[in-house]
Amino acid sequence: MRRLLLFLPLLGLLCGCDEKQVTPPPPHAQQQHTELADTPDFNGHNAYTHCAAICSLGPRYSGSAAYEKQLLYLEKHLHAAGWQTARDAFTAPNGVKMCNLRAFRTAAPAPLLISCHIDTKVNVAPDFESADDGASGAAVLLELARVMKDDAVELIFLDGEEAFAWRMSETDGLYGSKFDVTRRGSTLPRWQINLDMVGGRNKTIAVPALDTSDYMYAHYVAAIRALGLSEEKWTLWPGSYLDDHVPYLEAGVESLNLIAAFSGSNWWHTPKDNMSRICPRSLHESGLVTQQLVRQLLSEAAATAP
Ligand SMILES: [Zn+2]
Repeated sequence: MRRLLLFLPLLGLLCGCDEKQVTPPPPHAQQQHTELADTPDFNGHNAYTHCAAICSLGPRYSGSAAYEKQLLYLEKHLHAAGWQTARDAFTAPNGVKMCNLRAFRTAAPAPLLISCHIDTKVNVAPDFESADDGASGAAVLLELARVMKDDAVELIFLDGEEAFAWRMSETDGLYGSKFDVTRRGSTLPRWQINLDMVGGRNKTIAVPALDTSDYMYAHYVAAIRALGLSEEKWTLWPGSYLDDHVPYLEAGVESLNLIAAFSGSNWWHTPKDNMSRICPRSLHESGLVTQQLVRQLLSEAAATAP
C-alpha cells in the first residue's frame, strides 16, 4: 500500500488518453507462420527465432520507429496463431507516446494475464539489443501464443517499463503496467505471471519473496518440481523488485514475477545484453514453466468453479 499512494497522482495523468484499436486475426492466417517449427509443444528454437528477429530491429525505446516495427511483428505472429489484438495507446507524463499491446481469444475478461515488457532503455547505445531485458519475454509469450489455445488467458506486451532516468523510482518506470491496471478498473484478472529477463544462458530465476504470496509461491514450486527443473536455478530471492507485477499486485491480483538475477551483472542495460547471452534452452524452460503454471492455475479454477 505504501507504493499505491505514490502511484495515484500519476495514474490520474495517464488514464485520460486511452485509445483502443481491436484487430481480429485475418482468415487463413496460420499459413503466414512458415519460418517457425510447427511442433505441438512449446519450442525454444522458435522463441529464439523471435528473440533474434526482435533484436534485429535495434533499440526499441518508447515512441521509436523500431518500437512500432516491433508491434507490427508481434501482431503478425499473434494473428497467425489465431489471437485478436488490441493496442492501448497513452501518453507518459513527459509527453512520450506509449502503447501496450494485448492479445486475447474472446472478448470476455480472462482470469489469467501473462505479461512482459517490450520497451528498451533509452540512450544506452545505437547497437543496444536488449535481448534479455525485453526481447526474451516477448519471444516466450509469442511462442506460448502459438501453442496455447486457452480462452482464459490474456497476453499483454507492456510499454514503458523502463525509467527515463538511469534508475527506476516509484514515479519513473512501469508506465504501461500502471496504465493497464487503471484502464481495467474493477475488471482485473485473478492471476498475473510476469516474465522479465527469461532467456539468458545459465540464468538463475530469482522470484522476489516480498512480492510473492504463499499461494503463488506454492504454485511456482509445484511447477518447477513437476518439470524436474533445478531448484538451485529456479529460486526465491529475499527482497522486492520494482517491476511490472507491482501495479497488479497492489491492486489485489495474485502475481508472480519470473525474473532472472541481474543486479551486479556486467551486461544489464549495456550493449552486452545481446543475442550472444540468449540460448534456446533457457527460453524453452521459461516457456515450459509458464505453461505449467497456466495448467495448474486454470485446473484449480475449474475445480473450484460453482
Ligand atoms: Zn531494463
